Amino acid sequence: MAEKARTGRLVVAVDGPSGSGKSTVSRRLATALDASYLDTGAMYRAVTWAVLRCGIDPQDAGAVAKAAEEVELTIGVDPAAPHFAADDVPVDQEIRGPEVTAAVSAVSAVPEVRRLMVNRQREVIAAAERIVVEGRDIGAVVAPDADLKVYLTASAEARAQRRSAEYAADVVATAADLARRDRLDSTRTTSPLQQAPDAIVLDTTELGIDEVVHRLRELLDGPVAP
Ligand code: C5P
Repeated sequence: MAEKARTGRLVVAVDGPSGSGKSTVSRRLATALDASYLDTGAMYRAVTWAVLRCGIDPQDAGAVAKAAEEVELTIGVDPAAPHFAADDVPVDQEIRGPEVTAAVSAVSAVPEVRRLMVNRQREVIAAAERIVVEGRDIGAVVAPDADLKVYLTASAEARAQRRSAEYAADVVATAADLARRDRLDSTRTTSPLQQAPDAIVLDTTELGIDEVVHRLRELLDGPVAP
């Protein structure tokens, strides 16, 4: 593993619920490893944006599947500036908004949407020499052969605090939204949020980002200077 982390092909899977620190940790880790970075949540969010733009009801699985098939996604994998577009429209801001956040769990539960996204994710992974991939089902479904699989967790309070600070949103409303999405994401039939049996679980409640990144680098590389 140590040699692999420094040179050659490398796939790191980072899964976990919202607010567990996945995105910040994955971007920093990708930069440290000189690797690409794939935010699979942003892919589901971009499809959701396209669904809403067409006036489709996110609960209408047939129409959602059709929209997912038709939309042309542009997927940026630079950890310094991840960029997404749907049908050539930049959607980086819009996909973080409340409308998309409220609808994304319903859209991502549609089996056809997942099939399309998982195929596309595997293509991106295959095309990259080295990549850190974050999501909900990466270690278990998308990249079961990843070199390192990590599952990040944190207490519900810590996750709500982080998300509300990030979006300058009310902490109580944020906690309710996270609980709602956790429930939907964990109970859907097709590839729910799941911990791969061989994933290393890290509870980030009491850990800073630097510390988490440092631990992951040590898992890949052996002892690393802080
Ligand atoms: O990570 P983020 O909060 O941006 O993900 C948004 C939503 O996308 C999640 O709540 C989940 O419904 C969906 N998702 C998924 N599978 C993934 C990544 C995200 O279903 N691999």
